[in-house]
Amino acid sequence: MLSDGNIIVLGGGLAGLAASIAADAPVYEAASQAGGIACSDRVDGFTFDRGIHILQTTNLELLDWLKSLGVTFQEHRRNAYIYSHQTYTAYPFQVNTAGLPIGLRVRCLWQYLTRDRDSKAHNYEEWMYRTLGNGFADTFLIPYSEKFWTVSPREMTHEWTGNRVPQPSPAQVIRGAFWSKQTRIGTNTDFRYPHGEAGYGEVAAALENQARANLHLEHRAVEVDVERRRVTFANGQTAGYSVMVSTIPLPVLISICPQAPGEVRQAASKLRTNSILVVNLGIEREAISDRHWVHFPEKDVSFFRISYPHNFGPDVAPGGKSSISAEVAYSVNDGIDPEKTTERVIADLIRVGAMKSTDKIITRTTHNIPYAYCIYDMQRTEALRVIHAWLRSCSIIPAGRYGLWTYFWSDESILSGKKAGGTALERLAGQMSTNASS
Ligand SMILES: Cc1cc2nc3c(=O)[nH]c(=O)nc-3n(C[C@H](O)[C@H](O)[C@H](O)COP(=O)(O)OP(=O)(O)OC[C@H]3O[C@@H](n4cnc5c(N)ncnc54)[C@H](O)[C@@H]3O)c2cc1C
Repeated sequence: MLSDGNIIVLGGGLAGLAASIAADAPVYEAASQAGGIACSDRVDGFTFDRGIHILQTTNLELLDWLKSLGVTFQEHRRNAYIYSHQTYTAYPFQVNTAGLPIGLRVRCLWQYLTRDRDSKAHNYEEWMYRTLGNGFADTFLIPYSEKFWTVSPREMTHEWTGNRVPQPSPAQVIRGAFWSKQTRIGTNTDFRYPHGEAGYGEVAAALENQARANLHLEHRAVEVDVERRRVTFANGQTAGYSVMVSTIPLPVLISICPQAPGEVRQAASKLRTNSILVVNLGIEREAISDRHWVHFPEKDVSFFRISYPHNFGPDVAPGGKSSISAEVAYSVNDGIDPEKTTERVIADLIRVGAMKSTDKIITRTTHNIPYAYCIYDMQRTEALRVIHAWLRSCSIIPAGRYGLWTYFWSDESILSGKKAGGTALERLAGQMSTNASS
């Protein structure tokens, strides 16, 4: 047995690594590499993140901590676009409609100014109509949302929107409809990205380095016995625990807990995510674009977003070459064919002018993310209440994006792991003092 009590952590992504560091506890990761979704892959001299990753934290303490662990960041001023009606217009769309067809501009502006601001929004679609009006909602936000989330916005709540959907002032919307290119609006107008060739993966590598003595790779948990407080791994090893922090996706965790009650299993079956296939291309041409990323709301384009990794750091692409990462969202029920999707992505990239038909593709890879963005549907809150209450009663502390089933950016995942590590230490101290006094 690897560990015979105390604290253990399941999942070695950013949250699990942070929990392990905070509690000085062993962390068990299924893959042969730590870092989870925040890893990067190096292929033929190109670095590809697992979908675009930028650091947009405002938490200076976290930033200082990452720097103290050796991560060097480069600062960037966002250069992002939307492609709509065969036009590239600056992000955010809501304040940059000036280049779009005049009829569309007038409609977006008029319906924005006359929108019904007092109505109550019962779902995300109604929230879009109320906050930005039918023009913006029908042209950009609803098609983008359906493509990205893979479900109707009528099935979703709007509790997650906050700073994730830019909500400009009327003056900014009016200005943007007529003349001005406004790019300094929204959360990530400036962002950071690690400086080295490791790409965004440098953040995970720094945490991994710090947690190294406690890190157990290739340990996929296949059973959690909550009565005996013991985890069995696919390699036959076992680990006991008094308190466990779990950062693995909740549906996976519940599926490997044979003692989970029926209502907890049922709640877990209600949790939904989208899935994302990332198609990465290395291209034999210098500086094919100076953009960081572009959103594609229209349904005849296979991807919802592309990014140009070569613009994020000097060493993430070989000299004189460029790179593109295209993100294609799909529903887990539909599945996806990586080969066919790559061919379609290339054809679409040429059609929207992101690359030329004469461009030589020297590297192509795909990365599949089955659990990508947790869907905030109407069942999520109640399902989480049931699952989390049961886990806590079993001394299991959920953390991270998929343990809390939330829309965490990487900084928030790290912070939630740190917090869970601290909570685990308190829990353990509480258990020990109860045992000592009984
Ligand atoms: C496409 C995409 C783009 C993103 N872009 C950004 C961005 O620009 N900026 C930003 O800040 N954030 C971004 N994020 C969010 C960020 O990636 C996450 O918040 C963060 O990486 C989540 O870390 P985590 O540790 O909570 O989860 P994960 O990274 O999923 O870690 C969970 C770990 O558990 C392991 N595991 C699973 N099952 C088992 C098992 N049975 N046994 C043991 N281990 C197991 C997995 O292998 C994984 O390593 C993005 C996310 C996605 C999907």
